Amino acid sequence: MADGIQPQPGIMDIALYQGGASHLDGVGNVLKLSSNENPLGASEAAKEAVTRAALDLHRYPPTDHASLRQAIGDVWGVDPARVFCGVGSGEVLKLLSEAYAGPGDEVVFTEHGFSMYPIYARACGATPVVVPEHERVVDVEAILAACTERTRLVFIANPANPTGTMIGPAEVLKLADGLPTRALLVLDGAYAEYVDGFDAGKALVEARENVVMSRTFSKIYGLGGMRVGWGYGPQAVIDVLNRIRGPFNLSAAALAAAEAAVRDTDHTERCRIENAKWREWMATALAELGVPSDTSTANFILARFTDRTEAEACDDHLRSEGIIVRRVAGYGLPHCLRITVGDESACRRVVHAVAQFKGAA
Ligand SMILES: *Cc1c(COP(=O)(O)O)cnc(C)c1O
Repeated sequence: MADGIQPQPGIMDIALYQGGASHLDGVGNVLKLSSNENPLGASEAAKEAVTRAALDLHRYPPTDHASLRQAIGDVWGVDPARVFCGVGSGEVLKLLSEAYAGPGDEVVFTEHGFSMYPIYARACGATPVVVPEHERVVDVEAILAACTERTRLVFIANPANPTGTMIGPAEVLKLADGLPTRALLVLDGAYAEYVDGFDAGKALVEARENVVMSRTFSKIYGLGGMRVGWGYGPQAVIDVLNRIRGPFNLSAAALAAAEAAVRDTDHTERCRIENAKWREWMATALAELGVPSDTSTANFILARFTDRTEAEACDDHLRSEGIIVRRVAGYGLPHCLRITVGDESACRRVVHAVAQFKGAA
């Protein structure tokens, strides 16, 4: 094989991404709370936009995403010229890795960081560098201590997945200020819309040359199936990403859905408020059952059990009740389960099942 067909270095070190399960053998009325999807679904306006797009399926979509970028600019107060649209925020993060890192370079993220970060790092041949967190919170000092002259990218999600915790603007600024000259800070804002009034790093992007923010339509906008995300960064970075993306990376239906969704700010606001209400209710009820969690700023909670055995036994019980949540041993959290905040009935079903498990119902 040595002289045969070989992939680029790093690729065979990638462990396949594990998505949230969506069905259980032999169990009906399944409640899927394993992928942080929006229980209220997409905006009606987005659904109508997709229906309209069906009339023009033979047409290529626009290559410049101008209309979607303008809508994002109008709603989020960002400069549309510095917005980049991708196939999910995943494509934005992947293209950043391909553009800025390669063999011999380092890509830094934290121990409980999103599991796609090591995949992006390895796919471009770079070396992943994993930094400890402090009590399930990103530790800026530890990240800065791990950076070297070879660091090209630092990925942090804020709010973070699967911990649900956040770091404040002073910490983010310290991180951006302290990075080596060739390192780009990537602020993954997949859950940013769940935090009322949070700018997700927009001001920092505008003030500096070394910060990029990514956002997604997969979470609060309820469009995970359409695959749309966006990035906001220095013009030079956006120009680089535009050179390497596919010209027709986003379908016409995806562009139309995302544009309608971002403009439907009433729906977004309703989703944010409902999520906060049921997140607090579920976290409090689980804590009363002896299952605590860190204060979550996202659309899930990270439920902590005594140990791995108890977490897995609870997961088995939830599955027997038709409830699918996420095991997070792969994130270094074997004693935890990540539970997406569903609608009222979903949250009540989870709490009831955990109470049964704990012998309290
Ligand atoms: C869900 C999620 C994303 C979104 O990925 P898409 O490709 O936009 O669907 C990005 N980052 C984190 C941390 C996530 O949890």
